[in-house]
Amino acid sequence: MRNALTRREMLKRLGVGGSAAGVSMLAAKGFADEATDGDPEYAGFARNIQLMKPTTVDGPSAYIENGKIMQPAREVPLFHTADVVVVGGGFAGVCAAVAASRTGASVALVERYGSLGGLFTNGMVLIVIGTGERVNGEFKLVTRGLCEEFLKRLEGMGDGAIVCRDSKVYQPTVDPEAAKVMMDEMVQEAGVEMLFHAWGVDVIQAGNNVRGVVFESKQGRQAILAKTVVDASGDGDVFHQAGETYNQISHALGFVYRIGNYDRIDKDKAPKDVKLRLGGIEPIKSARWVNNLGPRGNGLDVREMSKVEMMHRKSAWDYMQRVRGTAGHEDVFLMQTTPMLGVRATRLLDGAKRIDKKGAVSGAKFDDVVAYSGDDRLKYPAFAIPYGALLPKKVENVLVAGRCISCAPDLIDRVRLIPVCGVTGHAAGVAAALAAKGGVTPRQVPVAEIQKVLREQKAYLG
Ligand SMILES: Cc1cc2nc3c(=O)[nH]c(=O)nc-3n(C[C@H](O)[C@H](O)[C@H](O)COP(=O)(O)OP(=O)(O)OC[C@H]3O[C@@H](n4cnc5c(N)ncnc54)[C@H](O)[C@@H]3O)c2cc1C
Repeated sequence: MRNALTRREMLKRLGVGGSAAGVSMLAAKGFADEATDGDPEYAGFARNIQLMKPTTVDGPSAYIENGKIMQPAREVPLFHTADVVVVGGGFAGVCAAVAASRTGASVALVERYGSLGGLFTNGMVLIVIGTGERVNGEFKLVTRGLCEEFLKRLEGMGDGAIVCRDSKVYQPTVDPEAAKVMMDEMVQEAGVEMLFHAWGVDVIQAGNNVRGVVFESKQGRQAILAKTVVDASGDGDVFHQAGETYNQISHALGFVYRIGNYDRIDKDKAPKDVKLRLGGIEPIKSARWVNNLGPRGNGLDVREMSKVEMMHRKSAWDYMQRVRGTAGHEDVFLMQTTPMLGVRATRLLDGAKRIDKKGAVSGAKFDDVVAYSGDDRLKYPAFAIPYGALLPKKVENVLVAGRCISCAPDLIDRVRLIPVCGVTGHAAGVAAALAAKGGVTPRQVPVAEIQKVLREQKAYLG
């Protein structure tokens, strides 16, 4: 029998008291793998528990009055104060948080799930397209700055983190776990206060001035005060809560799944007349991702989303059973279905400026350009994104980043691409920090100052 230490013994030897601190100490010392749950050697009763004081912030309950469900007014405990709070830890939110921090602001990042990347990682989208344009027959990268840095740093993570199908066109596919780890690394390195399992549910407002956000977690409702709020929720939750105007669209509700053992397919045994969709390449050769378009629907409607999700999951399972029943494909299996429904677009800010297809294809120029989007097919030139597309019309102290910035529905399919969300996040983060540091609203920050810092941080502005 292996001479194993229990976790308790390990903590004792390390001189660590509380369990949370203990686990991070274990991880830091490389012991985390050994303290494995589920190992029969460790099974037992009431292992690794400790009685503690309840940490939930309780409030009065809702009640029924005259047939209506009412909720009493109550004080919301202040949890944290920061210069900038970013709601949503998708790629846009990560870039916004890191950029704001690098521009000198204290930053909190609020994410409803337990890992970063949003649709990119948790939605298992994986393929980063729309990074560049074709100039004189050559590929030119335009989504530079933090987005480029992130992808380059993934390359440094070794085999299995990132792969590019075409060496001449930089539109790589990324392993979701590698991407999550790198995003964790970048926000930690930037000193961002990371708050997972925290759902931004309201804004704190004085008239049109937003002063922070209220979030919900297992501990109840708590508040974060901030000078500037970045809405990187993908669905415009913050600008909606603040009463800003927007357009809402429905789009295809997609669903990605991954298949395993792709490299064990025996093509010689496979029937020639059967065509199977087995997805796109991934950095790990045994894995493939399959991207389903799905039916058009309302990505804010919980009932509709729930039904679509169950439909997709069943159909992925049934399809994989068919694949496994095909000669030569017996080892292939459904490895993972997306934990995050593929909501492509919902609320689109109707902001100070609005970009559209006509402007994009005609190469519209803006004095307040803060980012560029490439074209996935390299058919159209890159188009400029102005600062005004990140700014609400009337609400102050809010900036918008990612797939819910101000654009016409006819341009959404280019605006929502992963690298484009990254560059608008980068711009919003820099502007949010400059506003907070200067004690002004984002609308009052001189655009030349934002552009200067963005260029210093290697962003491409044309
Ligand atoms: C099926 C599908 C296929 C796609 N294919 C491609 C492709 O091939 N290539 C490509 O480049 N792009 C593709 N896209 C688009 C791209 O993946 C997304 O548009 C992009 O990743 C969005 O980034 P984001 O950060 O703006 O938003 P999201 O990724 O949606 O991130 C928002 C984050 O905020 C969190 N959040 C939301 N609301 C709250 C709240 N109230 N409080 C706290 N947290 C909150 C979410 O959990 C999430 O982490 C695809 C999208 C889908 C759905």
